[in-house]
Amino acid sequence: MKTNSEKSTAWANIFSHVYIEAGAENLPAAKRILARLPNAARVPFGNRRDIFFRRGQDYLAQKNSPKLILAVQDEFLRDGSGMCDDFGHERFLIASQMMNCLYDCEYCYLQGAHPSANVVAFVNTPDYFAAVREYFGNMGQDAYLCLSYDADLLALEGLTGFIREWLEFCAGEPRLTLEIRTKCGVFPFGTETAPLENVIFAWTLSPENVIRKFERRAPGLEDRISAAKKASSNGWRVRLCIDPVIAARGWEADYAELARAVAAGFPHGTTEGLSVGAFRAREDVFEKMKKMRPYSEILAGDFVKTEGRGGQKEYRYRDEEEIELVVKGACEGYD
Ligand code: SF4
Repeated sequence: MKTNSEKSTAWANIFSHVYIEAGAENLPAAKRILARLPNAARVPFGNRRDIFFRRGQDYLAQKNSPKLILAVQDEFLRDGSGMCDDFGHERFLIASQMMNCLYDCEYCYLQGAHPSANVVAFVNTPDYFAAVREYFGNMGQDAYLCLSYDADLLALEGLTGFIREWLEFCAGEPRLTLEIRTKCGVFPFGTETAPLENVIFAWTLSPENVIRKFERRAPGLEDRISAAKKASSNGWRVRLCIDPVIAARGWEADYAELARAVAAGFPHGTTEGLSVGAFRAREDVFEKMKKMRPYSEILAGDFVKTEGRGGQKEYRYRDEEEIELVVKGACEGYD
């Protein structure tokens, strides 16, 4: 087990600088994060938009040495994207408490959606809770909230402690179902943290070949499976997601092998099931990604431009349906 000082060193190796937005510095979450980065250079500044949305930033260079920005959020809930599975929930919402991710997946939509790869952490967590309560006050409906949409929150939990705050909130808010999606190779909560019926940890699983080629810095398949199994055996609801399916060279054999690993790791009844979705991207995001990574094997695939929900233009595999059927077939009985 790592000592506190070793943990601080590990985070300091990732974040050498912390930019602190005016108004963020005295919030409890900011103090907690700064205490875990005792040696990082601290740079106070006015408004995160001046830094994050600066023109001419080199996204890929920043990915190799991201800075951490502590900021105060003023937009808390938004409707879920039509490109995501809403799992049949009428009210599907997103809350972004962080923007950007430590991992570097070649297909990540964030690179086409944000001008910067620096990691933003919004430290005013209680304001999110107030927004959820206000939502329930106005709508009077249950809601499904995807918390880890613009980041992998679980991967940064050791630094931020955000998920623990949300778990405490969820314990008193049964109308809310929270989904925390992750590729993390560690489940940081032990048996002392009681599992909650309204929280789902959703692991994105990929074949080992896809991880090695296209998911830089992300944990390997074995670690993800082991983290998901720990969550499940501690009593948490766990969902498995093979999404996005990447139809790169040899994909059918790769996903058949992944299906075998899923079947071996998760006996029926130990998860909430498995969702499958082929890689797709919004038109503007796809085109930006292509410009950024002109030699990407993934983006050179056979895509067609289609019209998504709400008239939005999207790129999808020409054989999307067939690709998903092949993967679902390999995982038969699991979805
Ligand atoms: S884990 Fe998700 S959010 Fe992080 S880089 Fe990969 S695709 Fe993007």
